[in-house]
Amino acid sequence: MASATEIIESARKDGRLVLTELESKELLGSLGIPTTEMRLAASREDAVAMSAEIGYPCVLKVSSPDITHKSDAGGVKVGLKNADEVAAAYDAIMSSCRDKFPQAAIEGVTVQNMAPPGLEVIIGLATDPQFGPVMMFGLGGVWVEVLKDVSFKLVPLTKADAKKAVREIRAARLLDGFRGTEPVDTAALEDILLRVSAFAEKTPAVTEMDLNPIFAYPHGAVAVDARVILGA
Ligand code: ADP
Ligand code: MG
Repeated sequence: MASATEIIESARKDGRLVLTELESKELLGSLGIPTTEMRLAASREDAVAMSAEIGYPCVLKVSSPDITHKSDAGGVKVGLKNADEVAAAYDAIMSSCRDKFPQAAIEGVTVQNMAPPGLEVIIGLATDPQFGPVMMFGLGGVWVEVLKDVSFKLVPLTKADAKKAVREIRAARLLDGFRGTEPVDTAALEDILLRVSAFAEKTPAVTEMDLNPIFAYPHGAVAVDARVILGA
């Protein structure tokens, strides 16, 4: 498995500052952060063969250094139940992405296991011109997009900071379970915050990270999408 440094250097050699989802998740994996299993397929046939290995249901997503918002491009298909659905999803993703981003270099698609539904949360790293690296935590969807319900902590986070980051959001009660759902594993989320913080502290070359979404479960959490950005 490649180290974070190797992944970063290989993107830089290509002249890229934005790592692909595959590279970003490999980097997370090297930090001990759980992600979905994934492989790159360069053709419809590859995608079908890999989906059979990964198992159903699976997910196909466009892989292109030029397409960062994959859903907006029609580049994400979830819940694929068999080889026929994978083949059709491959064609649909390619035609939509070529149509919407005619200039984009497309490597193919990533084939991923479909993570079971969980509570969607977001963990981010940003670099503030005055304060330096800052970590962000929030719940996914409307909570972040509409209500801006997020908490911020300066890197390096202490264990207490990580706990506070998770508890300080206004919707924190949703983490404790509601209408009969089980509470989510907040320790797993704190662990991800601390691992990203420790990495950011020793790797100033990385200026931004988006783990969006992370699915949080009663036991554990998994990063379902990730993007790592290098400083110029
Ligand atoms: P985008 O580039 O548009 O942010 P994402 O990778 O976040 O694309 O995918 C969009 C949505 O599809 C996610 O928010 C998640 O709900 C769902 N999704 C993506 N990948 C998976 C996966 N491997 N398992 C389960 N759901 C997924
Ligand atoms: Mg996403």
